[in-house]
Amino acid sequence: MNTLTATARNDLAALIHPNTNLAQHQEIGPLVITAGDGVQVFDEQGNAYIEAMSGLWSVALGFSEQRLVDAAVEQLRQLPYYHSFSHKTNAPAAALAAKLAELAPGDLNHVFFTNSGSEANDSVVKMVWYVNNALGKPAKKKFISRQQAYHGATVACASLSGIPSMHRDFDLPAIPVHHLTCPNFYRFGRPGETEEAFSARLADELEHYILDEGPETIAAFIGEPVMAAGGVIPPPQGYWAAIQAVCRRYDILVVIDEIITGFGRLGTMFGAELYGIQPDIMVLSKQLTSSYQPLAAVLVSDAIHDVLLSQSQRLGAFAHGLTCTGHPVATAVALENIRIIEERDLVGQVQRLAPEFQRRLREFADHPLVGDVRGIGLVGAIELVANKATGQPFAQPGTLGGYVFRQAHKHGLIIRAIYDTIAFCPPLICTQADIEAIFSAFERTLVDATDWARAQNLL
Ligand code: PMP
Repeated sequence: MNTLTATARNDLAALIHPNTNLAQHQEIGPLVITAGDGVQVFDEQGNAYIEAMSGLWSVALGFSEQRLVDAAVEQLRQLPYYHSFSHKTNAPAAALAAKLAELAPGDLNHVFFTNSGSEANDSVVKMVWYVNNALGKPAKKKFISRQQAYHGATVACASLSGIPSMHRDFDLPAIPVHHLTCPNFYRFGRPGETEEAFSARLADELEHYILDEGPETIAAFIGEPVMAAGGVIPPPQGYWAAIQAVCRRYDILVVIDEIITGFGRLGTMFGAELYGIQPDIMVLSKQLTSSYQPLAAVLVSDAIHDVLLSQSQRLGAFAHGLTCTGHPVATAVALENIRIIEERDLVGQVQRLAPEFQRRLREFADHPLVGDVRGIGLVGAIELVANKATGQPFAQPGTLGGYVFRQAHKHGLIIRAIYDTIAFCPPLICTQADIEAIFSAFERTLVDATDWARAQNLL
């Protein structure tokens, strides 16, 4: 134990880690990250890692953007905190709301701020219920989500999420929610089925569910334009058009969770643009501040906002909000972050880099361990399988993925293993050389992983 640094000792003694095997953590110990520079981060021993996951899909501008630091410091000096309850406001929060309304598609002109994506999606659930109560539709409360969706960790958001380990042992779901088939063509497309036919089948499934339950009980459909934490799953051809048409037919709100896809990740400012989605509600976070500050935003349509106005007038208040809703430092950082994304045309940069990124990713498709390669823009994944021909997953999901995740560190690379699916989501500021470095390091990792899988009889 005496070789551990003070940080590692304190961590092991007192810190409960999110999404971590806590017992294993006591054996392995923490990787202490102490500094960042562009797309790289450094550990306590000075080892460098390319952050091919942008932290948690979020550090668009990399780990050393001085302008974001300056924006935070300047705002801390000017006004470090004020709330926005009871008619108070502050300049950066108001300016950011106006900016997001300007950028967002359609008439998403009104913005509610929270500190995290989970609180934002939680706020969505409450707003939708509030609105349907106001409209005299008290039975219209159910949400429709998808298996493998990720919408956050609070009681409501973990319920919306479609990841079994988030429900099991937590007594969830705790809100009325139904999870439809995951739109993963590789896993759930049938032999001979086209992507369009797969999409049509999923839209049929949605429609049947609505008709079985009664449209008067269903409030909203929530989805990520491209599912990320569930395994990086771009939608099959025609999916969003088909889903959206069904929702419109039965007066079901379309909620788009753009927490990962927002601000250029897919090569458009928002995923809604790319897939022709006209959402009633859109949720943003992560690349909103490049995660230099915790912040998320719920954008709602004029129609929803009208109801919020009239109902709060009737009830005396919109009785929902957080101490740090519209925090001036977080919103000041977001404004500067968006300014930089626009000035440097990072959305265009993603379009320019995406072909090479996706080409390099797909070079792994022939590898004997690789079942599927998928991605769009600057996000992608490689799914490792036990049997390439049949796509059969490993008997113990996540064993090989866990090895790859740890072994990548030895090659100076940080990726994410979603069980045995390896995800890549580099900062938007990355260069062609960074992309090459990421995939060369991954190539070396995969050589080790192949030897290890053989030695462990996983193949
Ligand atoms: N929705 C999506 C699509 C996400 O990826 C995440 C975070 N990974 C969340 C919601 C929750 O955000 P947070 O972790 O900030 O609560």
